[in-house]
Amino acid sequence: MIIEDHPAIGTPVHCGECISDIACENLNLKLPEHVISLRVHGIRVIFPDGTEKCLTEEGYVLEKHLFERWIAEEAIEAGASMHLSHKLTSMERVEEDGRFAGWMCDGKGDEFPIQTKVVIDASGVAAVCSKIVRPTDEKPLNEMGKVVAGMQYEMLEVPTDGYLDFYIWPKYAEKGYLWMIPKCDGRANVGLVTEDRPRTKKALDEFIDITHFKELEQVPPPWKEKGNPAFGGTIPISGPFDNTHYDGLMLIGDAAGFTSPLFEGGSHLALKSAVYAADTAAAAIAEGDLSAQRLSVYSRLWKDEFPPYDKILRGKNALFDLSDDEMSAMARCFPDEMGDMGVSGKAMVGLRLLFRRPGLYFKKIVPAMLAFGYSRARYYGW
Ligand SMILES: Cc1cc2nc3c(=O)[nH]c(=O)nc-3n(C[C@H](O)[C@H](O)[C@H](O)COP(=O)(O)OP(=O)(O)OC[C@H]3O[C@@H](n4cnc5c(N)ncnc54)[C@H](O)[C@@H]3O)c2cc1C
Repeated sequence: MIIEDHPAIGTPVHCGECISDIACENLNLKLPEHVISLRVHGIRVIFPDGTEKCLTEEGYVLEKHLFERWIAEEAIEAGASMHLSHKLTSMERVEEDGRFAGWMCDGKGDEFPIQTKVVIDASGVAAVCSKIVRPTDEKPLNEMGKVVAGMQYEMLEVPTDGYLDFYIWPKYAEKGYLWMIPKCDGRANVGLVTEDRPRTKKALDEFIDITHFKELEQVPPPWKEKGNPAFGGTIPISGPFDNTHYDGLMLIGDAAGFTSPLFEGGSHLALKSAVYAADTAAAAIAEGDLSAQRLSVYSRLWKDEFPPYDKILRGKNALFDLSDDEMSAMARCFPDEMGDMGVSGKAMVGLRLLFRRPGLYFKKIVPAMLAFGYSRARYYGW
């Protein structure tokens, strides 16, 4: 059973909508034409002084709501039942002969109460099960971490050469970045993520005001009929939650805190963790063992596969410890293509820095450099 609290799958969209070829291969996704908006060639990072460097790798910008509907239809075809306008609000343990036997779930929607052997929490940043499941009386399953705000506009007639433009301009996006993500017919998402949540919209408007985007028309996205044209959401940034499994429960995607630290992509991680959780659930149900011990296989699977969050986060923090000027000086030492620097490429960057800005060489440039490397698709960056 799939439950979703909105009356439709996929809307409102809260995503920049890009996914890499590597993600599609890794997830065995054969995208149908109607969910694809545009073929893209990678990410161009634009530093504060305008220096541009590329992370070239092929991918797609999706019509994300159509993509999510397609995935849901695939699930239904494979035997799932879909229950829209169903919101989970509580879960009680069910025990038989002193043994854990599942969850009695309650909430708003006709199907409730629902008894189930395993719950897979895919509730996104709401992380509902982490809040309502209390292994001990005092504490919930997980404490909530930090989130950043993301917001974007759809714009028309946006010039593009098929790269996603990511601006690391801390003046407008504190510990975040701004983007232009091109779509079909000259459309594009222009937006940002920032840790300065109260200033999100103002900062985006200011950025648009001083760039070529100022001349372009903002329109509501096709799925939005009325109201403010801006759309977005929040993204967890504290890394994976401490407890991603429990008796008869697994957390996946944003609900488990799985986002890539530098550019905050989450779809690839969400879908891969979903595969691991589904496989683990099927095996555990077949064996009749729904215990936390049995489901710990799931946490082991994602830990073995996903890149080291703390290490990349250190790199991100090192990057944002640099002033705008230092960041740009570092970027000027990078090769035009940052994707495949390798050991010798990194050594060359080190030498250039030592020669041009020795002071910078001794700052934490190496972890900052690594953060870009870990933002590539093969490390679940997008
Ligand atoms: C502005 C912005 C731009 C982004 N850009 C990108 C990008 O370009 N590429 C990328 O890979 N990632 C991007 N991300 C991150 C990406 O959107 C998320 O990581 C991804 O959507 C996570 O998927 P999910 O299935 O875990 O959660 P979600 O997509 O958030 O889905 C959770 C679902 O659970 C439902 N739900 C919540 N609570 C309940 C409840 N109690 N009962 C029933 N249903 C419930 C919600 O309605 C929702 O439909 C972006 C995020 C933002 C905010």
